[in-house]
Amino acid sequence: MKLSVLKETDKGETRVAIVPKSIAKLKTLGFDVIVETNAGATAAFTDDDYSKAGATIAQNASEAISSADVVVKINPPSETDLASLKDGQVWVSQLFHLLRPELIAALKEKGVKGLSLDAMPRISRAQSMDVLSSQSNLSGYKSVICGADNLGKIFPMLTTAAGTITPARVLIFGVGVAGLQAIATAKRLGAIVEATDVRLECKEQTESLGAKFLMVEGEGVKGEGGYAKAVSAEYLEKQKAVVNKSLSQADLVITTALVQGAKSPVLISKEQIEMMKNGAVIVDMAVAKGGNTALSKADETVVHNGVKIVGISNFPAQIPTNASELLSRNIDTFLTHLMAEGQFKWDMEDEITAGTLVTND
Ligand code: NAD
Repeated sequence: MKLSVLKETDKGETRVAIVPKSIAKLKTLGFDVIVETNAGATAAFTDDDYSKAGATIAQNASEAISSADVVVKINPPSETDLASLKDGQVWVSQLFHLLRPELIAALKEKGVKGLSLDAMPRISRAQSMDVLSSQSNLSGYKSVICGADNLGKIFPMLTTAAGTITPARVLIFGVGVAGLQAIATAKRLGAIVEATDVRLECKEQTESLGAKFLMVEGEGVKGEGGYAKAVSAEYLEKQKAVVNKSLSQADLVITTALVQGAKSPVLISKEQIEMMKNGAVIVDMAVAKGGNTALSKADETVVHNGVKIVGISNFPAQIPTNASELLSRNIDTFLTHLMAEGQFKWDMEDEITAGTLVTND
């Protein structure tokens, strides 16, 4: 079987789905690996690195797709990719099937088997294959570094001959994978950290990292399959009352709140931004899904009333080498799980196969 790795075509994307280190593993599964030229260039992996690892280089995407049984990319297929795909091929990438019904219809029409990386079930045995987790973890780290870079202040308390600097205050909305890594990173840099989430199980996790949990009275939300559900308008009002004091004192706010298959909830209104300190920074990690503040704009920095709102839609693309390494390991582990003796098993009794295979015959 032949497996092709495409160069990413989305604007601002710098990662690559498979790094040279995974080629040997893919060969043991029975794949001949083809890599589109320059696929790894922006993540610091050269064509030569792939060739040395045993891959063949294709001169463009259509050449890579035409000879493949399996095509791998990080982001959903472009129009051109779709045009090149043929009946019976297997496509592996994030497909965001709940948000992109037209794309799923197009794959189905083509007779392509679509494996959606972002549809991985949130069960322990799938953790090593979960691209949302691996990328969120790195994004949580990078969001704090980005916030620190945009602040006119440092994080730790510093006693100097010229006076004492008080520690920065960081407030984090959403304590999932990204939020937990953001808490840990901000703590390591010396900030005072507070966090809030609708899932009450996050309280203990937040406190175990040495941060304070801001608790919204009421029932909260039980995570379902690892995902939070949307909360009521009444709950969001209560949350505002709980966080407003911390918001008005915060130097850096990081928002990570996502709801599966829906727009992200607006957790910080314009009026709340006006309550914040001059010079404060918000890093909105949910901006690609609509944003957690009323003023966030994707891939722009908005300044309102002295508060900077930084919207970065693809944090992992800012750390493409590590992000690609983790993605590649996720994908080679996933393919190992799906295959036996050089063939796909297509075991629909298996939760991982059934959860990720979004188009099939
Ligand atoms: P996510 O990226 O879907 O959302 C980020 C966080 O935002 C979540 O914690 C969510 O509860 C929170 N949120 C949603 N609405 C909010 C609101 N109105 N106010 C405040 N916070 C809000 O979440 P995630 O990072 O994917 O993690 C969710 C859970 O799934 C975590 O407990 C994580 O450990 C678990 N998980 C399990 C696996 C696995 O077992 N394979 C993999 C990944 C994550």
